[in-house]
Amino acid sequence: YGSLEKLNDIAVEVKNLSFSYDENGPLVLDDVSFKINKGEYVAIVGHNGSGKSTLSKILIGVITPNHGTVKMFGNLMTPQNVEKVRQFIGIVFQNPDNQFIGSTVQDDIAFGLENKRVDPKDMPGIILDAATRVGMQNYLDKEPLMLSGGQKQRVAIASTLALNPDIIIFDEATSMLDPKGKREIKEIMVDLKNEGHKTILSITHDMDEILNATKVLVMNQGKMIKFGTPDEVMKDKNFLRSAGLELPFYGMVEEALEKQGLTIKSGAKTLDELVDNIC
Ligand code: ADP
Repeated sequence: YGSLEKLNDIAVEVKNLSFSYDENGPLVLDDVSFKINKGEYVAIVGHNGSGKSTLSKILIGVITPNHGTVKMFGNLMTPQNVEKVRQFIGIVFQNPDNQFIGSTVQDDIAFGLENKRVDPKDMPGIILDAATRVGMQNYLDKEPLMLSGGQKQRVAIASTLALNPDIIIFDEATSMLDPKGKREIKEIMVDLKNEGHKTILSITHDMDEILNATKVLVMNQGKMIKFGTPDEVMKDKNFLRSAGLELPFYGMVEEALEKQGLTIKSGAKTLDELVDNIC
């Protein structure tokens, strides 16, 4: 398709986005606007039906908004250039079993590279590098049946990383995993954030994950009702509840302490830090 230049460092800019699945039906997205800078990790939260998947479908160009615009690195997405704009994005889906296409880890990572017509002589290096970044370098010859859910998702991430997209959307990528798998994937997401090159959008039900993000985008009934740092979003706990969301573990502890007249110094996030910072 050819590729697009990056015109600025705003990875995603959404303006006045509205969408309805039926002409006369309810607005599933209602005038949503936000900007995400390169290198940010944005957690997108909201109760079921609040419009998160619809938003991600618009971002990957599967559906077209009724109103409003999407820009990636300054490039306006249009029906004509959607394939080009989409090259900025990689996506990791919910179900690890639906994502494995190759018969081995190596073949799976190679699949996307073949589609992208990468020179076959460059492939082994790219594959090894991508697998190493998710700790799967010793599994290249293994079959999917041999892997845990978390390992399969790591391979899905490696397949995405091999294509070197600037933006990675994690669409509830941890929700079908056991606690160990969830931890593995969340650690990789934090590593990616710390490397600083990729922009991460993570649609998630895991409220503890929001503490890893640089920003949290809260959806409720098609509207974006908050877009701020985790601290800003956590400040008003009743607000989160009224949007049908649970509190992160940290928030529950903080709230329980407040009832006892105790507070936590801000910045404490892990259980150890919490315990050390109760005043
Ligand atoms: P979330 O991802 O936050 O659970 P969705 O974007 O899936 O929310 O759904 C938002 C609303 O759009 C819901 O009311 C849902 O029923 C409706 N919806 C989702 N997909 C379709 C579709 N293909 N056709 C009609 N309505 C849909």
